[in-house]
Amino acid sequence: MAAFEPVLTRNFAVENSQSLKVYEGRGGYQAAKKALTTMSPDELVQLVKDSELRGRGGAGFPTGLKWSFLPKDRAETFMCVNGDESEPATFNNRYLLERDPHQMIEGIIISCFATRASTAYLYNRFEYIAATRVMERAIAEARAAGYLGKNIFGSGFDLEIYVHRGAGAYICGEETGLIESLEGKRGWPRIKPPFPAVEGAFRKPTVVNNIETLCCVPHIVERGADWFKSIGTPKSYGPKLYTISGHVNKQVCVELPLGVTTRQLIEEHAGGVWKGRKAKAAVPGGISMGLLSADELDVPLDFEEIRKTGCLGLGTAAVTVIDDQTPIMDVLYNTCRFFAHESCGQCTPCREGTTWFYKTMKRIKAGGGRLEDLDVMEQLAKNLGITPGTTICGLADGAAWPIKNAMTKFRPELEEYIRSHQQADKKPTALQEA
Ligand code: SF4
Repeated sequence: MAAFEPVLTRNFAVENSQSLKVYEGRGGYQAAKKALTTMSPDELVQLVKDSELRGRGGAGFPTGLKWSFLPKDRAETFMCVNGDESEPATFNNRYLLERDPHQMIEGIIISCFATRASTAYLYNRFEYIAATRVMERAIAEARAAGYLGKNIFGSGFDLEIYVHRGAGAYICGEETGLIESLEGKRGWPRIKPPFPAVEGAFRKPTVVNNIETLCCVPHIVERGADWFKSIGTPKSYGPKLYTISGHVNKQVCVELPLGVTTRQLIEEHAGGVWKGRKAKAAVPGGISMGLLSADELDVPLDFEEIRKTGCLGLGTAAVTVIDDQTPIMDVLYNTCRFFAHESCGQCTPCREGTTWFYKTMKRIKAGGGRLEDLDVMEQLAKNLGITPGTTICGLADGAAWPIKNAMTKFRPELEEYIRSHQQADKKPTALQEA
């Protein structure tokens, strides 16, 4: 098999990769010129549909299809670029922003032309101060060079990009939470329908796409849909940035074809599991996607195969490795604390469920656990994460999924943890709440 040549990260190692001059010198903005001067918006939407590019932010929804949901008779369209990269251990978008900002801008230009959006908002995670500064500088450079503003490439197409920093809430990575926050309100996800394509930012048709997704677009325009589909697995196409962290020797972000395995990432890119230990488990793409057991480390990390393990999906492809000396109960405790804190509180099942998980975990860790707690948590995870339509957004599913996976994949260890940590004086009575 031919060696994989980086696509999205090809400029990362080039000196001064953030500058317009370097980007132009490496062929930058030629794809935008081609798109705006030789193609129609409908042709671009069809090209992206043909490439079968799927969103890189978590859900893996087909990008071209998403664009085609915009009403045909719309007068105004907004583009929201989702840079609220808050899934724990995920940092691939930050690298794309900090190291090749003009690739991002070129992706936005083409995607806005395709969707007829003349205003784009880049919504960055609050903590991404450096990335925001890099993007603001690059946008100013692009505007001065005529790549933004009025009549880009003489095509009659106008575009402005505004950078907006969030305020540190995980839930603003959910597209309607992001839109609410962008509008200056509390980042509460909206009930759908209407979906953003019909009624989004400022009640206008809006496309919300992830950073890495849009960075793929100039390359698809330049090299075609067939080229894009030649990378990856039979149903999951294109290059992907994987981040690897946790109990490994080297925490890295690497670009590879979709479908690499967790074991390959650990052994070939992260220098192996730290301290000479073995991997007991791994998070495949953000903890909201669930947990892989040691037996599942050879499953391809793509949109299809990962679901066969019982995980929710590929998510952000941020792999976190858990070594064989770390109790899964500790992983669940941290997970439950995180989601209880980040639930926005609008929906009763999510608000109460995530708090119940956390309280139960706290009690178990303090020595007051009982074996029946596992059954209660499994049932609660089922109610929260499997019954569709009980909550407004997917955070509840994300909170439930690692619990659900842990109960089936690590049940004996969890039972042993409860037994070995039980302290007679901390056992709750039947009347005490979790
Ligand atoms: Fe908020 Fe949770 Fe409901 Fe999502 S599911 S809207 S985070 S309460």
